[in-house]
Amino acid sequence: MNPWEEYKAKNGVTPVDLLRLKSQTIPKEKAEARYVICITCPFFQKMTKQCLKCGCFMAAKTKLDLATCPIGKWGKYPEDTE
Ligand code: SF4
Repeated sequence: MNPWEEYKAKNGVTPVDLLRLKSQTIPKEKAEARYVICITCPFFQKMTKQCLKCGCFMAAKTKLDLATCPIGKWGKYPEDTE
């Protein structure tokens, strides 16, 4: 498995997917619910709004349908996949 395949396995998406927001976004309420989880997470870097686990900018990543939290806090549960 190459590094990008490993990254996608952990995060559900790659940084390239962040450039295609229009085709892969989820409803605003669901993205906001994910973001609330992130901003209360110890791995959330408040100054840059990045996750220290994956390095992603969470305001963008939380909007992606296939995105997942690398430590399983969101994106892998049935209520977060609809
Ligand atoms: S993606 Fe997961 S690990 Fe990263 S800040 Fe959000 S909740 Fe925390």
